[in-house]
Amino acid sequence: MKKKPFVTLEKLKEITKEYPTPFHLYDEKGIRENAKALKEAFAWNKGYKEYFAVKATPNPYLIQILQEYGCGCDCSSLTELMMAKALGCKGDDIMFSSNATPANEYEYARKIGAIINLDDITHIDFLEKVTGSIPKKISCRYNPGGLFKISNDIMDNPGDAKYGMTTEQIFEAFKILKSKGAQEFGIHAFLASNTVTNDYYPTLAKVLFEVAVKLKEETGAKITFINLSGGIGIPYRPDQTANDIRVIGEGVRKVYEEVLVPAGMGDVALYTELGRFMMGPYGALVTTAIHEKHTYKEYIGCDACAANLMRPAMYGAYHHITVMGKEDAPCDHTYDVTGSLCENNDKFAIDRKLPKIEMGDLLFLHDAGAHGFSMGYNYNGKLRSAEILLKEDGSYQMIRRAEKPQDYFATFDCFPIYEKLTEDAEK
Ligand SMILES: *Cc1c(COP(=O)(O)O)cnc(C)c1O
Repeated sequence: MKKKPFVTLEKLKEITKEYPTPFHLYDEKGIRENAKALKEAFAWNKGYKEYFAVKATPNPYLIQILQEYGCGCDCSSLTELMMAKALGCKGDDIMFSSNATPANEYEYARKIGAIINLDDITHIDFLEKVTGSIPKKISCRYNPGGLFKISNDIMDNPGDAKYGMTTEQIFEAFKILKSKGAQEFGIHAFLASNTVTNDYYPTLAKVLFEVAVKLKEETGAKITFINLSGGIGIPYRPDQTANDIRVIGEGVRKVYEEVLVPAGMGDVALYTELGRFMMGPYGALVTTAIHEKHTYKEYIGCDACAANLMRPAMYGAYHHITVMGKEDAPCDHTYDVTGSLCENNDKFAIDRKLPKIEMGDLLFLHDAGAHGFSMGYNYNGKLRSAEILLKEDGSYQMIRRAEKPQDYFATFDCFPIYEKLTEDAEK
């Protein structure tokens, strides 16, 4: 399928007059329609709740949109918890799914009443020591080990992942937690990332539901929720087919009725912690072609770089590129599309077939709405870009300003050099 930008060239030109490139642009309409569809797909489950994985797109204005559809926040760090609290999330609206957790983060999570999802059996003692008690409601993260397969396809390698407890450990953990006063239990697992198949959640659900039934029988624990976590992917490539969330919801319902209902667990609430699926397609990195270079290859140099979107450099990830205004032009040129970092992996695309690019053309890098801006960094002293929300009515709003040199130097502000460092910065 052809990938179409969610914004027109005309609108982008209007935006770039006010906010220079590069910036991340988000599509309110797309975010809303998708959040609504997710909610409807799981409406059959009474306690269903999506905890948006804040790390994917930590912008309060975007998370506020999701809150209108009943979403809470899935956090795994102090600042993510602080953001959830600032957004008015209370108690059960926050899932704290962290790992290798620092003491102060458990303290803060308890203080604001977040549900704690323990990554490891040793964290029981740690949590108790640090916070003085074990909460009445608690969750454990499960890792069945081995390879995670759907039919014969290897989806991911949980046995090689740092997360979660082994089967033996989670049974032991439930017993210990119960003896320490826990009354309500949840289980969680994240076994494959960016899955582009409607079978991932139902397959994962079967694994989790079967363990839940055994846990209940063997430990007598009252399991009130099962958290399918993240992992529903998006079609980054134009030849991929998007997941159908209705089919996924129905697939999970079938397994729920097969496994949980007969075990007398038909009141268990299902939770999800989707990140990529909620925001990925509804954000783009917009950048301007500012250089062309003809050496052993053809290069287009952009005003954005890997510091604005790390996925291609980090994982060799594919992000589709539309040259705005040339949507229907033939892709008869082959380019490496690069940023300006002194790092040869700073390439948004390698040997990409694109229409002829002129200097000043606007490039729309698709599917940057999750794990895009948020993975940004300051290497080479590059500054983070602005984030802009394209609203349903066609107007737009800056929802995070671009970094300034003062921000980059801010951690020197207690040193005499700070004045010198910032004397040329626009005040
Ligand atoms: C990253 C993460 C998610 C979200 O993953 P997506 O691939 O964006 O859906 C959910 N839960 C936990 C614990 C995570 O670490």
